[in-house]
Amino acid sequence: MPARVIDGAAIARGITEELRVRVARFAAAAGRPPTLGIVLVGEQPSSLIYVRNKNRTADALGIKAEVIRVPASSSIDEVLGLVDRLNQSSAHDAILVQAPLPDTIAAGTERVFERIDPAKDVDGFHPVNVGRLVQNRATLVPCTPAGIIEMLEREGVRMRGARAVVIGRSGIVGKPIALLLLHRDATVTICHSKTPDVPRIAASADILVAAIGRAAFVTPDFVKPGAVVVDVGINRVTDAGAVGRLFGAQSPRLEEFGRRGAVIVGDVHPDVADVAGAMTPVPGGVGPLTIAMLMKNTVTAAERRWRGGT
Ligand code: NAP
Repeated sequence: MPARVIDGAAIARGITEELRVRVARFAAAAGRPPTLGIVLVGEQPSSLIYVRNKNRTADALGIKAEVIRVPASSSIDEVLGLVDRLNQSSAHDAILVQAPLPDTIAAGTERVFERIDPAKDVDGFHPVNVGRLVQNRATLVPCTPAGIIEMLEREGVRMRGARAVVIGRSGIVGKPIALLLLHRDATVTICHSKTPDVPRIAASADILVAAIGRAAFVTPDFVKPGAVVVDVGINRVTDAGAVGRLFGAQSPRLEEFGRRGAVIVGDVHPDVADVAGAMTPVPGGVGPLTIAMLMKNTVTAAERRWRGGT
């Protein structure tokens, strides 16, 4: 029987619907909507799309998202100055600096994240928030891993005592999802590019999270029969032959390729559906949950500021 497809988009809609009441309550108390400042440096096409999607979701929910666009030629000091202004602003509850920064200032990314007031840091990248996550007392958790946990909880996936394997150890996905699973009493292994025999380790997992950035890397031999497989990857495949080999000659994905010249593919091979018990699709799995959790973090940050908490 093919794996059950976990509908991340539907779960994300559920999360945002639940937020409406909190947004309305905040707006009634504060006399203004929860407000997110988004700093967008340059014109990277994928960043423009991400910011547009975030903006659209915020709008639909009654959250004010103010996008502050500055040219790619901006200096790191100019970006830090913008962050300072948003930190001091009483009208902004939440701040997000869209990554990646342009190549010329990319080396300063950590300085920028460290400059954001931890109470407004809705990406959860500030070292104070990372430390709180390690200590299992975080309020602002990075959005993608937080969304994965919401999804697993809402799908009734048992984490306590489960064996979880995370492939990938980035600060935005791999490490925080490993910590969140650990805090829910899973036994967690993290694999990375220097790990020998990743398929054998992965195949021990009841919950397998793939956050690698390599199209269809996780093949059926990585997967224990019946496992829950979470595909975080977003990979643009621009080779029609590769799309045909992955999805089959009759697949609608080939039509999509014909229209767009590319398709988005996850880190998990489609054939994994023959082995897994449940899996998230790409697109329509983890992606929408990430934006929903950004909205949730924004509302949480706004409520805590209004109550005078940190
Ligand atoms: P990243 O920073 O590039 O990290 C990738 C990780 O994969 C690294 O830890 C790397 O190991 C590991 N890796 C690479 N090749 C490997 C191999 N052959 N075997 C085992 N591990 C290997 O990427 P990221 O930011 O975590 O993102 C991962 C993917 O998720 C990307 O496709 C990204 O676009 C996507 N993503 C999606 C969302 C969403 O909302 N859906 C959000 C964030 C990211 P090393 O540490 O040893 O290099």
